[in-house]
Amino acid sequence: MIKPRCLLHNMPMFLSADNHLKPCCFLNTTTEWNEFKKWAEGHNLNIEDDLNVNNHTMAEIINSPTWIKLLDGFKTGDVPRVCNAECGPGSYSSTNQSSKHSDYKSGN
Ligand code: SF4
Repeated sequence: MIKPRCLLHNMPMFLSADNHLKPCCFLNTTTEWNEFKKWAEGHNLNIEDDLNVNNHTMAEIINSPTWIKLLDGFKTGDVPRVCNAECGPGSYSSTNQSSKHSDYKSGN
């Protein structure tokens, strides 16, 4: 089961230099962005347009088919690889990206 930090622990969205609002910074690096694009294309989603801040407002982006499909995937497990890698079982132990100040408790 994925424990999405973006929903559960206020992991911020990420505005990329190529004008895309991404659900988090983990999805911004080249490999992970390309995987995210392939995942979206596999669902017939137009991620390049859906997340493009030149074409849409923030409200439109977070209600876009791509964004909604990702949120649905948190329930079904149908998500890009990086979401499993960064927010899947056993993937993190800090709720605020700093173990010193984390309020994470095992079993959360
Ligand atoms: S990797 Fe996926 S599940 Fe984790 S914070 Fe980013 S968008 Fe959310």
